[in-house]
Amino acid sequence: MNYFKINLTKRINVLSIDCEDWFHGLEIGMDNWQKFESRIEKSISKLLNLLEETGTKATFFILGYVAERFPRLVEDIAQKGHEVGCHGYSHQFVYKQSPNEFREEMEKSLGILEKLSGQKIVSYRAPFFSITQSSLWALEVLADLGILFDSSIFPVINYRYGIPKAPRFPHWIETKNGSRILEFPISTFKVLGKNIPIAGGAYFRIFPYSFTRAGIKSLNRENQPVIFYLHPWEIDPEHPKIELPLRISLTHYFNLSRTEAKFKSLLRDFRFSTLKEVLGNAE
Ligand SMILES: [Zn+2]
Repeated sequence: MNYFKINLTKRINVLSIDCEDWFHGLEIGMDNWQKFESRIEKSISKLLNLLEETGTKATFFILGYVAERFPRLVEDIAQKGHEVGCHGYSHQFVYKQSPNEFREEMEKSLGILEKLSGQKIVSYRAPFFSITQSSLWALEVLADLGILFDSSIFPVINYRYGIPKAPRFPHWIETKNGSRILEFPISTFKVLGKNIPIAGGAYFRIFPYSFTRAGIKSLNRENQPVIFYLHPWEIDPEHPKIELPLRISLTHYFNLSRTEAKFKSLLRDFRFSTLKEVLGNAE
């Protein structure tokens, strides 16, 4: 695997939405999903309004399962000028799939998303950021399926994901078979030699907003755009509370009631666009 530096002509931050229901990322198998109350239509509509109010465009990495059940959501997102990206179909860890399973899921999801959105899907984010050292083969499959931009690699140590030594900023990756893909790693801030995630998910809810803002400002001052990620259920604090393994429960439910206000501050303080727009001009 070779890495190459790139030059970005657009140094604007990227806003990404991992478009899934509140129970999709809890490591509950797809066979059990129908038991839970779906809240995604409500939370996406709230989110689309927030983006419209601030004139912000984002990349929505949509789960194929969601697109199949809520086709109007995909149509709405696309009609409002956002980029539709792919988040797989079943929210399975990529490193728990075989290359064939991964390819089949991707083909299925891409087919659904392209038909509904009328867009050629060129951006991808793995469920649980699960492109790790053991699943780098997935990048070859993605490139083969027409994916140009990936944002799945998290340069941190975490029990579920991470390539701690991966480059922290956007770069080209050349895979073993010679295909190339542009990677925008999940943004981190270096503190005392350690990569600290600052731009999304539980980290955004755990750290005070002032820390997130200072981190993004500092990276922007170095001329580095940030990629921020949010899940629609994070601005829906009333979604059901279910029993989960402690580690999952703590991060999932932490500080949900304050996320919408923090997210509004973020939209007020920074400029964001889609992954396609920011990486589309890379040299
Ligand atoms: Zn996800």
